[in-house]
Amino acid sequence: MLGTTLDAFAAWCAEQDLPAYRARQVYAWVFARGAADFAEMTDLPRPLRETLTERWSIRRSEVVRRREAADGTVKLLLAWPDGETSECVLIPDDDRRTACISTQVGCPVGCAFCASGLDGLRRQLSAGEIVEQVVRVRELCGEKRLTNVVVMGLGEPLANYPALVQALRIINAPWGLNIGARRITVSTVGLPAGIRKLAREGLQVNLAISLHAPDDKLRRTLIPWAEKIAIDEIVQAGREFFEITGREVTVEYVLLRGINDKVYHAHELVKVCRKMRCNVNLIRYNPVADLPFERPSSFATERFLTELRQRGVNAHLRASRGLDIDAACGQLRRSTISPPPKSPADD
Ligand code: SAH
Ligand code: SF4
Repeated sequence: MLGTTLDAFAAWCAEQDLPAYRARQVYAWVFARGAADFAEMTDLPRPLRETLTERWSIRRSEVVRRREAADGTVKLLLAWPDGETSECVLIPDDDRRTACISTQVGCPVGCAFCASGLDGLRRQLSAGEIVEQVVRVRELCGEKRLTNVVVMGLGEPLANYPALVQALRIINAPWGLNIGARRITVSTVGLPAGIRKLAREGLQVNLAISLHAPDDKLRRTLIPWAEKIAIDEIVQAGREFFEITGREVTVEYVLLRGINDKVYHAHELVKVCRKMRCNVNLIRYNPVADLPFERPSSFATERFLTELRQRGVNAHLRASRGLDIDAACGQLRRSTISPPPKSPADD
């Protein structure tokens, strides 16, 4: 049900000869009140509750692991009925509470530095499974409101396009999770066709593009799909996204020690940034077990940031959150597949 629009559910209700208000009533329970079971819906007639229980399910996952970092970040591992698992994270920050969610089990892209793509793509997540992660994270907020959603967990969102867009509509809808589109960010490795399509969906969501290198040669050593996609094409799609939506694009750049963190990389990046309306989010690499990449020094990080800013690029350093709980995407799932040594943060 979490992946079904109100219109589609209302159509089903009409087929059952139910009064028109029933669909809204059930959806208010499911989305606004977060009901996990039709039995809770005490203002519905009992036979209807029974029919709903037979024909629909609200949630499909079980929380199989929960880890909480010293900084308040909470990471959940959800298991689906087929045994596959997905990660989602709550990142609290002052007045903001952000859910970070996944769109695929694994990732088909296989970036050299990322834990998510190490084992390839296992399967797509459905729209309902994407929405369910937001519901689970919202529950962690208690009385407080979940304010933001970032699609930055496992997987490449634009490589699961129909499910992504359906989920975004439900997360955004007033009858759904009612989270403003401007508070939703989709992060992509940079698929031009998908970016162009997303720009035309009429959704006012933010777009973040993972660039990580200022030239194609270096980018291809980090991101296998960059073999077929040039930075220029991504920039062109980013420009179009801005022209159509009026939303400035965010360029994400993970700093990898000694690889893309030098002054001349910053200067090259400035040239790319001048071609489209964008701001830059620098991220210090979160080391992943068995991968040869290292976190950049504070000096190199600050230097990179300053070089960008001095040349008029609006750049920020994203704070690393939940380092003590393997917060980099894909790490919890992997560490569960091959169990890590017990740490004090374990539940
Ligand atoms: N596939 C999409 C979205 C998921 S990854 C994408 O690549 O954009 C979200 C962000 O986290 C990307 O910018 C990605 O490069 C970055 N990332 C992946 N592994 C990381 C790590 N170990 N440390 C820091 N950032 C990482
Ligand atoms: Fe996939 Fe994004 Fe990780 Fe690359 S960085 S492997 S695209 S999840």
